[in-house]
Amino acid sequence: MEPFVQRHRRDEAKEASLFLLESWVKEKDGLTAGFTGRGGGKSGEPWASLNLGLHVGDRDADVVDNRRRLTEALGWPAEAFVCGEQVHGCAVQAVGAADAGRGLSSRATAVPDTDALMTDEPGVLLVSLYADCVPLYFWDPVREAVALAHAGWKGTVLEIARRTVEAMAERYGSVPADIRAAIGPSIGPCCYEVDEPVLERVRPLLAELAEAGIVRLAETIEPSSPGHGRLNLKELNRQIMIKAGILPTRIECSEWCTGCRRDLFFSHRMEGGRTGRMASWIGMKGR
Ligand SMILES: [Zn+2]
Repeated sequence: MEPFVQRHRRDEAKEASLFLLESWVKEKDGLTAGFTGRGGGKSGEPWASLNLGLHVGDRDADVVDNRRRLTEALGWPAEAFVCGEQVHGCAVQAVGAADAGRGLSSRATAVPDTDALMTDEPGVLLVSLYADCVPLYFWDPVREAVALAHAGWKGTVLEIARRTVEAMAERYGSVPADIRAAIGPSIGPCCYEVDEPVLERVRPLLAELAEAGIVRLAETIEPSSPGHGRLNLKELNRQIMIKAGILPTRIECSEWCTGCRRDLFFSHRMEGGRTGRMASWIGMKGR
């Protein structure tokens, strides 16, 4: 069953399009987690309309307005928003209430050079931005900590999923087997053909996963035209999570492909790079 469920909107023009990570949200009072769609925002073409990225040429005022539509739809204050300046790296940064508001209205205040954020403090809404890359969600219900990581092929190869689990263990005492994980809407192998230089960077990781007895190669790279392959980044990240100690039964994986469903999502690859950005979010409300 698809874990990211599209929320019904009363006013499609003015209400942010949201896909809620339904089982988590239903299970835990005060926990919010999900992914945005492209509808219900203020931006014009080619960012129409719920563009949440300040770095793609759109008007800043529209982007900030869109971000406020997101927090409003969640019933959270906009000032709880925290995002990082994503660089396709593997740094994991812990944030807390003192960081609330960072990156909301300006890139200059975003947490620098970081693709993964984590917190154990309520009232902090972790946010990261996407157009095809894979959003990874982590929730430790025992230590009451959450994390988000942004994984394109580079972050995947750098094993940002494993590094996030390790950082949660170190900082919050999380036991990997307690951690729940989810893999959000992103580009599927159907729309993601890569060339040999990328495949070359992925192979050592596959060898390592194979050695650990986890890898299912056929589901990860499918040969296509000569020198090319279709890469399944979602499956690859799922395997890295398993290697990091998360139980397979505690990982939920979205079927939504951002490339196939341009009616619902932005796709950097399918729209020639001129498009908006979606957001993943996770946060715990205080009592
Ligand atoms: Zn597709």
